[in-house]
Amino acid sequence: MELMDKLTILADSAKYDVACTSSGVSRTGNGQLGSCLPAGCCHAFSADGRCVSLLKVLLTNVCAFDCSYCVNRRSNDIPRAAFTPRELAELTIQFYRRNYIEGLFLSSAVLKNPDYTMEQMISALELLRGEYGFRGYIHAKTIPGADPALIQRMGLLADRLSVNIELPSEASLGLLAPDKARTSIFRPMRQIARTARENTRELAVYKHTPRFAPAGQSTQMIVGASPENDRHILRLTEGLYQKYSLKRVFFSAYIPVSADSRLPALSTPPPLLREHRLYQADWLLRFYHFSASEILSDDQPDLDPYLDPKCGWAVRNPGYFPVDVNRAEPEQLLRVPGIGPKSARRIVIARRTGALDLDALRRIGVVLKRAQYFIVCRGYTGARAQRGTVARALLDPAAFSSGTEQLSLFSAPAVQQLTAAGTPALLASKTVWEEAAECLSRRM
Ligand code: SF4
Repeated sequence: MELMDKLTILADSAKYDVACTSSGVSRTGNGQLGSCLPAGCCHAFSADGRCVSLLKVLLTNVCAFDCSYCVNRRSNDIPRAAFTPRELAELTIQFYRRNYIEGLFLSSAVLKNPDYTMEQMISALELLRGEYGFRGYIHAKTIPGADPALIQRMGLLADRLSVNIELPSEASLGLLAPDKARTSIFRPMRQIARTARENTRELAVYKHTPRFAPAGQSTQMIVGASPENDRHILRLTEGLYQKYSLKRVFFSAYIPVSADSRLPALSTPPPLLREHRLYQADWLLRFYHFSASEILSDDQPDLDPYLDPKCGWAVRNPGYFPVDVNRAEPEQLLRVPGIGPKSARRIVIARRTGALDLDALRRIGVVLKRAQYFIVCRGYTGARAQRGTVARALLDPAAFSSGTEQLSLFSAPAVQQLTAAGTPALLASKTVWEEAAECLSRRM
């Protein structure tokens, strides 16, 4: 098979993998090929949110496993291909020299068995780092069930490692990916976290110690293929950050690829809005000092499609507000809808020189569209707006946006249902918007 034919097949097979952003690497060029520093190891996203900046490819899509949600599963009748390590290394360098890419995102199906696959991947990375002197960013996926010694070797070659958790519970994993065991996923995660910690300690003493996965580890979870609710997913995500020091947990809206009674029907649209809300909630965990149990509870186990999770929390906790921007701790400011880490920092700095009023907040760039209903400041004792007005300000327009004929990718399920029943997209969005605003104002 021609190299370009292989590339077409294997790049296409890799498109379902979303865990490919890169960050936090400081590998310099030192006169060799590539560098993570000058270009900041760029990452671009296509319209559907997938990362396209790295050469994102599988070593092979020939798979010994049969995960029912995966297009590359053993039982699926699709064209198959495999790169040799030399072909893959050569291709990466050719792409790099042509300025198409700045790094490599390498994953693979399970060729023969996990160890054999990892050995092939490692050979390709050794060629890149050794023979070609490639210093650019490499993100490599480890294969569940591979020998720990191979993970160790891969971690010394790649900037970031990831182990896909795939599904949010052991029961779903057993049902949909019977070849994968929970231990084969968590054991390498634990190993990577422990080795990275030891490596940091060694580097503090011996600065020429080889670096192990300097950009840390990440994972990917498929959302919507199995019945777990958002609360379960968020609690798992929180646990992964705390236990394995993950840099990112990526959520991937399930795209139906197989007619299987254990999975959503082929006509089910990917739950992109749910994926989006989970990313927002993940942001709250990582940068806003929220815990999973604050964002969702037993009473409300799923994220609201119409509200971003921080607005949802604010609506459920009216006793927390109003927040006095001139006295509040930074963590309190971060709870105000519309105030993010940057605005909170600016407020803390600006108020050192005097009490802030609304104009001063506007001048330092605080967006008051939502925040005005949750704060007080000098000369301002809070907005006296009708509940309906506040509700309309809090609703997330992304859930209702549509052109005259087409829905946006993030349209709420209710909008999609109305459109499927024949209502024009614009009218469907408007109807659901009005109902959501009414419902929210009753809850406030
Ligand atoms: S191991 Fe499972 S998820 Fe990975 S490529 Fe094979 S079938 Fe797909």
